[in-house]
Amino acid sequence: MVISVYSHTQKSFSEAVASLLGKGRRHAALLYAQWMREGNVFLDRMEAQAHPLAQEILNLTERALPELSLLKEEGKTVKFLLKYPDGLKSESVVLPMQNAVTLCISSQVGCKMGCAFCTTGKMGLLRNLTAAEIVCQVYYARHVLGHPVRNIVFMGMGEPFDNYDAVMQAIAVLTDPAGLGLGPRRITVSTSGDVEAIGRFAADADPALNLAVSVNAPNDSVRDKVMPINKKWNMQELKRAMQAYCLHPRRKILVEYVLLKGINDSLESADELAAYLEGLKVKVNLIPYNAQFQDRFAPPDQEQLDNFLKRMREKGYQTLLRQNKGNAIMAACGQLGDLQQRRDWVKINKKGEADHGE
Ligand code: SF4
Repeated sequence: MVISVYSHTQKSFSEAVASLLGKGRRHAALLYAQWMREGNVFLDRMEAQAHPLAQEILNLTERALPELSLLKEEGKTVKFLLKYPDGLKSESVVLPMQNAVTLCISSQVGCKMGCAFCTTGKMGLLRNLTAAEIVCQVYYARHVLGHPVRNIVFMGMGEPFDNYDAVMQAIAVLTDPAGLGLGPRRITVSTSGDVEAIGRFAADADPALNLAVSVNAPNDSVRDKVMPINKKWNMQELKRAMQAYCLHPRRKILVEYVLLKGINDSLESADELAAYLEGLKVKVNLIPYNAQFQDRFAPPDQEQLDNFLKRMREKGYQTLLRQNKGNAIMAACGQLGDLQQRRDWVKINKKGEADHGE
């Protein structure tokens, strides 16, 4: 049996080793810390008589990383794709911010939520990533590409709450102080509005973790058109879930709002949004839509954008405008995902089915 280091905290890794070998808990803990914190193992830091045991532990540990399939840079923004043994790829983006490096990671390959403005949504869901595959994206950015990642946002491919258990396990690994050691305050999970999972997250998650909710519309009739999830949980149900989430004094929600020209970017929309958010502890993040191939949406005009921002601030909401980084390498918000990957996947699966039937 092989133990994947990326799916474990130091404690669970040491326990797994000890239960397999009947010994080695302390050495496993040391090796784990070296690998996850420093990106390597250093047997020379152990007493010589411990080397055979350390080697035994390493032999039953899976540390291999997925293959790098693509690396693109635009300025300081870096998009990279990791390819897994089944041929599917995750997409991650390194975004150097003013004070720290943020990594945007994927929780799924593709996504079934079908948001109309999102490339990943057009792929459909190909599969969930495992906790180890989620953690690998962070490990890779930090220890292979050498970026001092401090913030993590689950805003890459996928709806994190549609892969809830793997995401929560990945967060446990990422925040283990003995390993990658990211602060929970520096991790943001973004949902398209899964009301049941927001309730579950409120009950389970460390209150220091951040929750972002993609609202993207001033009312149900617009949201129904751009986010199919609204037909399952409408905006009132979503608001009730956000209210319940914010009952904890340390919790606040980041409301994301992608501005689509002529659809949700008017001043009336800003007023409606402001009224909708009344009574919630929120910070608003405006994201001008990023143009994509074969597009039915357009980004808002600069003047419209400025007016919307100003109106939200006048209404008393702390509102930020997200800078569009990585547009040229399709690494900006809503642009992750690759329709070719879906076509390849369908082809392979059809072939698999045909082979199976022979
Ligand atoms: S915006 Fe997020 S939830 Fe919606 S389709 Fe894209 S990846 Fe999925």
